[in-house]
Amino acid sequence: MGKALIIGCGGVASVAIHKCCQNSEVFTEIMIASRTKSKCDALKEKLKNSKTIIHTAQVDADNVEELIELINGFKPDVVLNLALPYQDLSIMDACLATKTSYVDTANYEPLDTAKFEYKWQWAYRERFREAGITALLGSGFDPGVTSVFSAYALKHEFDEIHYIDILDANAGDHGYPFATNFNPEINIREVTANGSYWENGKWVETEPMEIKRVYNFPEIGEKDMYLLHHEELESLALNIKGIKRIRFFMTFGQSYLTHLKCLENVGMTSIEPIEFDGKMIVPLQFLKAVLPDPASLGPRTVGKTNIGCIFRGIKDGKEKTYYLYNVCDHQECYREVGSQAISYTTGVPAMIGTMLVMNGTWAKPGVYNIEEFDPDPFMDALNKWGLPWKESFHPDLVD
Ligand code: NDP
Repeated sequence: MGKALIIGCGGVASVAIHKCCQNSEVFTEIMIASRTKSKCDALKEKLKNSKTIIHTAQVDADNVEELIELINGFKPDVVLNLALPYQDLSIMDACLATKTSYVDTANYEPLDTAKFEYKWQWAYRERFREAGITALLGSGFDPGVTSVFSAYALKHEFDEIHYIDILDANAGDHGYPFATNFNPEINIREVTANGSYWENGKWVETEPMEIKRVYNFPEIGEKDMYLLHHEELESLALNIKGIKRIRFFMTFGQSYLTHLKCLENVGMTSIEPIEFDGKMIVPLQFLKAVLPDPASLGPRTVGKTNIGCIFRGIKDGKEKTYYLYNVCDHQECYREVGSQAISYTTGVPAMIGTMLVMNGTWAKPGVYNIEEFDPDPFMDALNKWGLPWKESFHPDLVD
């Protein structure tokens, strides 16, 4: 049916590409383009029995001219950006220049400032509308599935939603004292930043890891979780009308937190360049180089993730609570696509969002966050493509 250009060939891209190849009636032809072409070629070799025709290319996704040339050569229907948040704007520029639709999983963040927000990408709304192309922002799990869960809850279960708590639990054990489950640089920038949540029309800022709760997760059990700022809070606060409070919590084990504190205390998580041996280096980028590659965690990670949203609001004049979540098993993911569940839970929704833009179900000129589309086709696709969701009408609440 169509052609997709996938930029990046790391942990998340590997899963999304496996899933595109499983869905070869929709993804008849794909191009994998990344900084290191040998990774793209190795993945192509692994997937050589797929019906999807796979091409590979080298690209520097910071370079708009190179991207334009690549897009003009391959002529994809959609570009799926699975490189890093730093490349969002250059890829959006290339999509505008070639009138090609765009999908990503993480919002733009400047390399030299650890602050992600949507303002840069929302500034493209008018230009995408005029060009007649769609930009779908945040088609991963969180943001992504959690945002679609919110749209689904509002459409089917509530007249008004007042409170949302997004809970992201990873009970996976990879056996290392310290490793991150996705790109270490992006992950550490996120968790060492101040926390924040949205309440009564404004942001409330917290110290990093200041707010801790314990939650008894279905199929996982009791875990410590900490309030973080997370990008879907920004768009959901605008798109879920009448919302009074929205928070995001992520679980962390004690070993992870102890190591992180120590690395922070000695300056290893800093993004300020320093001189070392006559060269300028960024400590956090050096740290990334010595930590285990998240893509290598697949074979050794056991346990499950549970990510979902607890909603509170009003239906037919009565108060109601509702919990929508997905449980994903690290080893099952590894057996299916050779990756652990964090890459899996992001790569599957990235494929689904791309499919819905490509087949026209979600094609609408402009720049949109994922919760602005009809959630139903995405929710059906989650069940079909490996991330079935579960619901509870009497969940424990977070105080
Ligand atoms: P990885 O670091 O594993 O992969 C990133 C890939 O992008 C690598 O192949 C890398 O190339 C490539 N790349 C980086 N810079 C460039 C460039 N300038 N030009 C071309 N290619 C480039 O990251 P992940 O797979 O873990 O994460 C991918 C994205 O998914 C990130 O944006 C992350 O924030 C997002 N994410 C979203 C989640 C969600 O739920 N919404 C959850 C987890 C991640 P090379 O191989 O040479 O390093």
